Amino acid sequence: MRALMKCGVTSMLCLAAIFAVAACGHDVERAKAASGTSTGTTASLANGAQTSAEQARPASATGGFDGAAAYDYTAKLVSFGPRPPASDAIRRTQDYIHTELQGFGCQVDEHDFHASTPVGDLGMKNIVAKIPGTGRGVILLLTHYDTLRMDNFVGAVDGGSSSGLMLEMARILCGEKKQQPNSVWIAFLDGEEALVDWNKDNDNTYGSREMAASLANSGDLKRVRAVVLADMVGPKNVKIRRDSYSTPWLTSLVWKTAGRLGYQDIFVSGETGVEDDHQPFLARKVPAVDIIDLADYQAAGYWHTTQDTMDKVSARSLGIVGDVILETVSELQQKFH
Ligand SMILES: [Zn+2]
Repeated sequence: MRALMKCGVTSMLCLAAIFAVAACGHDVERAKAASGTSTGTTASLANGAQTSAEQARPASATGGFDGAAAYDYTAKLVSFGPRPPASDAIRRTQDYIHTELQGFGCQVDEHDFHASTPVGDLGMKNIVAKIPGTGRGVILLLTHYDTLRMDNFVGAVDGGSSSGLMLEMARILCGEKKQQPNSVWIAFLDGEEALVDWNKDNDNTYGSREMAASLANSGDLKRVRAVVLADMVGPKNVKIRRDSYSTPWLTSLVWKTAGRLGYQDIFVSGETGVEDDHQPFLARKVPAVDIIDLADYQAAGYWHTTQDTMDKVSARSLGIVGDVILETVSELQQKFH
């Protein structure tokens, strides 16, 4: 994705504002961790990369969403190594995602397509877990699972964290016995990253453009009530800013939900503009929101570098963002029942 800072005023003031928010948030997070009853899983503890402040709160404290499990799925995805489109590693990743989704009891659709890119014609694959609803409406959740085409880039936060989160989301939603009014589709998208240059020749968002176009062709796009995209949701001290491109009512719903759950210090009031997988849907007039922490990760120097590694990922952050998205889905089910 690509960021367009929209703090207004000057870029120096903008950076100062970001650092001020980050500094305040840190103390709040430590206070919460100290008062919490966080345990984490054996698997996460065995990993050894997390400090005590970054263990997930128990799933019961995050609406049933298990941040430690999301962390473990992320670690597994990252263990495949760099996962650019059409690589051996991304094929192993696709097999893993598909197998996990089937294990959760999800109906799984695979959509293979060819993308014309600056490095040639590449085979790509979107994988969609489908939870049927009683009505025609669809709530569409998105993540990209490909990683930037760069030597030794493993995309722990960028590509890994949101996909680990969506695997945990699928585990929960595919396991629910009671049917909801709207179907929920969870799409694991290929080809979000530019192969060469994001700004040239539409060299970006191949998977989401393909999905939006094919849903428009089949007529199913009209059924989609809302698109919720997660991207870069796992860094420590995560701070999610409002994305200025996203649909205002849907952004408000997510931030209101986060506020109700007590996460005002994480879903903060600042605004950035991020070009990402939600845009092909926005362009087709489908309401969409991007949940992303790009600004701090970029400022720390980790974004699109070989330092985007598992030690930057927090099970606690994954648990909190997962809680908010799970609750947002529930709000959307009520809104469109
Ligand atoms: Zn990226």
